[in-house]
Amino acid sequence: MDAALSTAAARLCAECGLCCNGAMFHMVILQPGENPRALAALGLKIKRKHSLAYMPQPCRAHVGGCCTVYEQRPQRCRIFECRTLIRLTKNEITESVAMEKIREARIKLACVENLLAQAGETRAEHPLAKRCDNITSDTESHAHAIREALAAALSDFDSLLESDFRITPPLNPADA
Ligand code: SF4
Ligand code: SF4
Repeated sequence: MDAALSTAAARLCAECGLCCNGAMFHMVILQPGENPRALAALGLKIKRKHSLAYMPQPCRAHVGGCCTVYEQRPQRCRIFECRTLIRLTKNEITESVAMEKIREARIKLACVENLLAQAGETRAEHPLAKRCDNITSDTESHAHAIREALAAALSDFDSLLESDFRITPPLNPADA
């Protein structure tokens, strides 16, 4: 990526954060050769499931729109580029079009978060999909109307993520 595009990408990511804040992914899988203890020593939360070490999202290092461990961030964070950034780097879209997509996503995300707050779901340390599921699957505690509205808002947000942001990174960065 040339310097101008790299600066544009940094501006966009600072306004976005969707790949760090638990809205798009629920974990970052650590790769062979990465040192979970060293990452934990930086303040990152590291968990294990069977032989897999991973960093749950929302990521603790995502603070004020920035990555506080940027120079030491995990490999998957280094290689990840969302669809919007890829389109920007291929000159298929301009920075302002990319920024508009990010604004649209943030508006849709705010709508989901507003409904979560109305439903009393305040556990912001959990990924968005799990928080939504807590409400939509709890027919005992939550009225039909709020569950329906939340499911619709999440679906709307997720459609935008699929078309313009989400890409599942390869397990091994060498396969990128
Ligand atoms: S989703 Fe894309 S634009 Fe947003 S922070 Fe991640 S890489 Fe940057
Ligand atoms: S380590 Fe940095 S780049 Fe990776 S998910 Fe956390 S905030 Fe984002």
